[in-house]
Amino acid sequence: MLGILVATSNLPRLVVVVVFDQFRYDYITRFYPYFGKGGFRRVIEGGTSFTNCHHTHVPTFTAPGHATISTGTVPKYHGIVANLWYDQATLKKVYAVSDPSAKAVGGKYRYGESPRNLLTNTVGDELRLKTNFRGKVVSLSLKDRAAILMGGKLANLAVWFSTEDGHFVTSTYYTDKAPKWLKDFNAKKPANRYFHKEWRKVGPKDAYSLAITGGFPHILGKDSKEPDSKYYRELKATPFGNELLLDLVKVAVKGEKLGKDTVPDLLFVSFSSNDYAGHIYGPYSEEVADMVLRSDRILSDLLNYLDKEVGKGNYVLVLTSDHGVAPVPGRVEGLKGKRVSLDTLKGVIEEALTHRYGKGNWVLYASFPWIYLNDTLIAKKGDPAEARRIAKEALVKVDGVMRVFTREELLRGGFPAWDRTALYVYNGFNPERSGDLAVIPKAFTLLGSHYTGTNHGTPYTYDTHVPLAFYGAGIPHREVSSFCSTTSIAPTIAHILRAEQPASTVGEVLEVKGQ
Ligand SMILES: [Zn+2]
Repeated sequence: MLGILVATSNLPRLVVVVVFDQFRYDYITRFYPYFGKGGFRRVIEGGTSFTNCHHTHVPTFTAPGHATISTGTVPKYHGIVANLWYDQATLKKVYAVSDPSAKAVGGKYRYGESPRNLLTNTVGDELRLKTNFRGKVVSLSLKDRAAILMGGKLANLAVWFSTEDGHFVTSTYYTDKAPKWLKDFNAKKPANRYFHKEWRKVGPKDAYSLAITGGFPHILGKDSKEPDSKYYRELKATPFGNELLLDLVKVAVKGEKLGKDTVPDLLFVSFSSNDYAGHIYGPYSEEVADMVLRSDRILSDLLNYLDKEVGKGNYVLVLTSDHGVAPVPGRVEGLKGKRVSLDTLKGVIEEALTHRYGKGNWVLYASFPWIYLNDTLIAKKGDPAEARRIAKEALVKVDGVMRVFTREELLRGGFPAWDRTALYVYNGFNPERSGDLAVIPKAFTLLGSHYTGTNHGTPYTYDTHVPLAFYGAGIPHREVSSFCSTTSIAPTIAHILRAEQPASTVGEVLEVKGQ
């Protein structure tokens, strides 16, 4: 009892969760010799790091990954089953953070957005409840879905970047008026600073010798006469996007007075540029090598800032990622990676179901890994379970397809513990939002509409294995190599804050405290 009381009076003033979007675990080990002392090395050599941490759901995408980090559970329970899913009731696509009742605040942004699609709460929500709303929760990213889903339902503010006007925006869900620090930040047009800037390599030559491809230098906005949407989209896919976000983070920490009193606050930051660049260039490119080396500098800069503003020993920093990425298909000869289009899969299903039931529009929507059949039409002609079985039999014969799961199989569950592919698909399956079939490609094969570059989403380690480290107040140096899931991040933060765990937590509390 005494231990708990003592610990309660000794909480960190601020917990900062730093996510690098699309950051494989092996980026740390591959580039470790080229890191400075103040970034990844400071966190890993001074804190507790988990070398075998995985996302335990499919698809390993941005929206599900960020929701898992904040909720401590899998898409089955937090409900964010993809970035975009299909609603069989309204026959419409649903974006993970869309909310027609909300409007953007602070800049131009055509969509209304909020965390209303989350089916459970987050560790930030629990901090808000524990402190009677005195502890603040702020979430920042270039990506709307990353900021909104980490912040949770009771966040003070989630802020993201708009490529419509280069402003950072929020939503009427949080506030009707942008805070002064955000208005002032936008007024300086900080995104325009990088117009026509050249992206060059910053690290030592040796670091880039680990890359297979490369095309430096890159001139930002070279096809634009002035900063426009095209330029803003390009900006996101360069290291300058992360630099821009770091500037916003500093202004937000000051403006919201985070970590300034003994009531703990929670700050989420997701650096998205790694993902945008990663899709274009792939994990074995000079460009991604450079993004990693620059991420090390970003982290170092952020830690120095927190030392100054919040004070060493007053904060805890959590480092992780929402998913990894596959090598670009065909770029590594021996891996035999290829691309299979969703249209090919749709065609195969249409053919098989037409053969059984006659002509019809049998597939309503397909987006990796989910395929939504026309359940209403099928119900008129026969048994939907039989149709799914027929579709599965046809799909498993497609070159590049590894496994197919039907809705019936995923409702039944009961997969053995060694069968990670099946378990991750099961964890990602929410009966109301997921499709009729889940299709998993062979390792190194991409399923979907990306015809250049690369993607992520599978249950393979290149997509699931991410860094996880806790650093700062009261956290000892330790390296843990046993398996852990990213569902453990939220309950462990709850433990550090002595707050309740988010409602649907399935993860374990990791041992990160000295006591
Ligand atoms: Zn991505």
